Amino acid sequence: PPKVAVMTSGGDSAGMNAAVRSVVKMAIFRGCQAYVIREGWEGLVRGNEEEQGEQSAAGVEQVKHGSNAAAAAAVAAAAEASSSTGFVPTYGEGELLKEGVSEAEELGLKGRYIVRVGWDDVRGWLDQGGTLIGTARCAAFRQQDGRLRAAHNLIKHGIDALAVCGGDGSLTGADRLRAEWPELVEKLQASQLISEAQAKRYAHLKIVGLVGSIDNDLAGTDLTIGAPTALSRICEAVDSISSTAASHSRAFVIEVMGRHCGWLALMAGLATGADYCFIPEQPPKGKWEDELCEVLQKHRQVGKRKTIVIVAEGAIDRELNDIKADDIKVVLSDRLGLDTRVTTLGHTQRGGRPVAADRILATLQGVEAVNALLEAKPSTPSYVITIRENKITRAPLMEAVAQTQLVAKRISEKDFDGALALRDPEFDE
Ligand code: ADP
Repeated sequence: PPKVAVMTSGGDSAGMNAAVRSVVKMAIFRGCQAYVIREGWEGLVRGNEEEQGEQSAAGVEQVKHGSNAAAAAAVAAAAEASSSTGFVPTYGEGELLKEGVSEAEELGLKGRYIVRVGWDDVRGWLDQGGTLIGTARCAAFRQQDGRLRAAHNLIKHGIDALAVCGGDGSLTGADRLRAEWPELVEKLQASQLISEAQAKRYAHLKIVGLVGSIDNDLAGTDLTIGAPTALSRICEAVDSISSTAASHSRAFVIEVMGRHCGWLALMAGLATGADYCFIPEQPPKGKWEDELCEVLQKHRQVGKRKTIVIVAEGAIDRELNDIKADDIKVVLSDRLGLDTRVTTLGHTQRGGRPVAADRILATLQGVEAVNALLEAKPSTPSYVITIRENKITRAPLMEAVAQTQLVAKRISEKDFDGALALRDPEFDE
């Protein structure tokens, strides 16, 4: 049966576990063997220590049975039997991976980053925050040498279909691996790390992206996995702050995440009735200090007791100077005489328990990711799974990544209307 692997990479986001669970279960449902790659690209570059060539039962053994080879063989046989009917191999209650990476060493996963998993291994993952299989930033993968090792590890495990859940950086990496794949295979064969038969068998890498990002910053999709949860957490925090603000008639400047993307700031502003938002894509037209004071003063004049300003971490003015929460505080205190506090929400925004919307999005997209992998042909592009107008869809991975990078470029060129236009999923250059 085909072997499908799933990994999470880059910054964590709520719903990544739901995505992994969905890919694993759908892969098994469709008669594939499922693998997880722990610790993002880093895990793929490292592979498994002390590995002896091809293995099948060994993978099961790592996950479930430690050194109990007889039990592993029995489980592998059961898996083999059930995969012929295409459904539900059960490897016990999956208590091993459920504990997450911090427990990995005790669980006999030390030095093992590519792990065969069963249906039950991902049970209970739907409502867990962060990513239980770990994520990392990996410098080695930016070099061809690292990607060569990653390719070797995939081929060694017989994996030719990979679902990557991460942000635009991770997906850029995925796209590079895909584009470079024939060259990598050729190099591996030339250095006799793989056989000619393997080079033939794995001539084409199937890869699919799932967008895990709290910022909702990927072009071509209406929503990314983790953004709804982050937004909810921000709203809870702003609500709490609002009651204090109103009680004391204070002003609060709240900094939220989003380096090139103001979605969190803007939506939080809408959802909490904030007085003013700063987002990178659309800086104030005039001098921001004047515009801000004018608006806030009006709100005070009509009787508002509290002032809430939300600022994205990447907020800038039209000259590309940063607008920081502390700068805004100074303006509010000095020019409006408001008792002003700054709150930087920081990592509380990343999530914790995913809200229903993220669980659903990740689950539906995980299903589509496996379908896309199994349908992939050398002639079709690699896809990123998106949602547009409430429908789960596919977009060419390369184009979505390119368009996302274009947003940052437009901003850096002071073409703010151009940057905003790129946020439109229907936009086509
Ligand atoms: P995110 O996926 O959240 O945007 P990063 O930008 O940190 O996070 O990217 C995560 C990882 O993806 C990096 O540590 C690196 O291993 C890989 N990556 C990012 N950009 C590239 C690139 N241009 N080429 C190869 N790998 C990349």
